[in-house]
Amino acid sequence: MSNHKSTAQIAAMRAAGLIVWQAHQVAAEWARPGITTAEIDAAVETYILAQGAAPLFKGQPGRVPFPATTCISLNDEVVHGIPGARALRAGDIVSIDIGCRLNGWCADAAQTHPVGSIPADRQRLLTTTEGALRLALQMLRPGLRWSVIARRMVQYVEEAGCAMVAASSGLTGHGVGRELHEAPVVPNVVTHHYPDFTLAVGMVIAIEPMVNLGTSRVRQLADGWTIVSQDGSPSAHFEHTIAITAEGPQVLTAGPAGQGWSMPS
Ligand code: MG
Repeated sequence: MSNHKSTAQIAAMRAAGLIVWQAHQVAAEWARPGITTAEIDAAVETYILAQGAAPLFKGQPGRVPFPATTCISLNDEVVHGIPGARALRAGDIVSIDIGCRLNGWCADAAQTHPVGSIPADRQRLLTTTEGALRLALQMLRPGLRWSVIARRMVQYVEEAGCAMVAASSGLTGHGVGRELHEAPVVPNVVTHHYPDFTLAVGMVIAIEPMVNLGTSRVRQLADGWTIVSQDGSPSAHFEHTIAITAEGPQVLTAGPAGQGWSMPS
C-alpha cells in the first residue's frame, strides 16, 4: 500500500514523536491545581516551536478552525477540548493531546493525568484506558487483522466496568505520516462503519482508546469541538503513534530510552 513507510521515513517520524513525548513531559509538569488549560497550551506551544517543529492541531478544519496547539479535555470531556481560562482543581482528570510536524513528518499522542488526588473510580478509568492501549501494543504483529485487537480492547474495558466510546461517534485512531490523519481508520471497537484491515510492516498508526466510566455515548458541545460523555461521566484518552516494523512494534512517541506510559514492561 502506498502509505507504508520505509525505515528512513519511520526514523524521521520518530524524531517528530520524540518532540511530542518531550512536550508531554512539559505538559505533565503544568498539570496541577490552579493552572489554567490555556497556560498548559502556551507552555507546550513554546516548547514545540523552540524545537523547530509545528503544532498540528491548530487550524484543523471544523465549523471553526481548531484554535490551539493542544486539545485539553477535563473530566466528562472525552477529546477535542479547547484550552482556556479554566483552572485545574484537585480531583480532576485532564486529557492532553499533542501533535507536531517536524521536517514534513507527523506524530500524535495523548495522555490523561490525575490532578492531585482523585477518587478511586477515576483512577480505575485511567488505569483501564492506558491498559487498553498497552494491550493493543502487545498484540500488534504483521498479518493480524485489526478487528481482533479492537475486540480484545473492548472486552478488557468492559471487564473493568467501563465503556469504550461508540464507533458511531466517528472518534477513532488513524494512520499517521506526512499528514496527521491518513488511511487506515483505526476504530477502537469492532464496527461495520469502517473497513477492517490487516497489519503489515511499514504501517504507522495512532491507536487511541477513549473510555467512559458511564455510557459509551458522546455528544458535541456548541463550541463545535469539545466532545463530552452524554451522561456527564468522566472520560479518559491514551494515544501513541506506533510503527509496525520487522523487529516488532516501535512506539514513535515514547521517551528517548523507549520509556512511555504504555510500553510493554
Ligand atoms: Mg490521534
